Amino acid sequence: MVRVINTEELIPIISDLVKKACYELSENVLEAYKGAFEKEVSPYSKETLKLLIDNAEYAKKEQIACCHDTGTAVIYLEIGQDVKFEGEYLIDAVNEGVKRGYEEGYLRKSIVADPLNRVNTETNTPAVVHTEIVKGDKVKITAMPKGGGSENMGTFTTLTPGEGIEGVKKFVIDSVKKAGGKACPPMIIGVGVGGTMDKCTEIAKKSLLRPIGSHNENPIYAKLEEDLLEEVNKLGIGTLGMGGVVTALDVHVDYFPCHITALPVAVNFQCHASRHACKTI
Ligand code: SF4
Repeated sequence: MVRVINTEELIPIISDLVKKACYELSENVLEAYKGAFEKEVSPYSKETLKLLIDNAEYAKKEQIACCHDTGTAVIYLEIGQDVKFEGEYLIDAVNEGVKRGYEEGYLRKSIVADPLNRVNTETNTPAVVHTEIVKGDKVKITAMPKGGGSENMGTFTTLTPGEGIEGVKKFVIDSVKKAGGKACPPMIIGVGVGGTMDKCTEIAKKSLLRPIGSHNENPIYAKLEEDLLEEVNKLGIGTLGMGGVVTALDVHVDYFPCHITALPVAVNFQCHASRHACKTI
């Protein structure tokens, strides 16, 4: 049976989600900060982690942005195939929700209309919207305000299949070294393996939505996550590049089938402001 949803319903939901994501880091992220504080040996990084914890708690209490960079609004819509939308165009409703959220929430507007002429749209729109058709009659909406500093350091390559898992590790580690403190560590590192160029970067980014501490269900990729986390944390980059033993809070690797000639790898960095909020209707 078809369930009808008026797209108007999505506007206040998305407005609330972008505000909530920018104001409130999840308990999962806060626990990871606290774990990093316990582990860290560098006095500079340790002190900065304490500031990050205090800052996150204050932002949540006062309902203000936990970082000045409130990012590109990345919105995921997982749409049940039994849903029919009525009303205004779905993407227009999403953008209206983002616009309202950024205005009402005093969130910085960071989007320029054209990458070359650099005029700010003043609304933080358009959002980057990913739609996926899933089973059922529900819609899951996830807002991920994605910070510019970490996004700028993302990488992609296509390895030859013979380079295998060691080639993947080397590319990820080299990407982390190149990013250094610019991706605002301690980071969550999203790695996509396989697919096409677009699919590979898509799964790298979406892996950032997984909770810190979760693992890929495939034991080969779960082991790769563990090995990469250990290697990354030996690089000594530390919180905001100030040295130490915690450069990443976690590494998430997801994979997708790919062509026989290729081994695509993408790395998408999530800075310490790991923000996302979701609601299912
Ligand atoms: S990359 Fe992240 S932590 Fe750094 S300024 Fe941007 S949102 Fe803030």
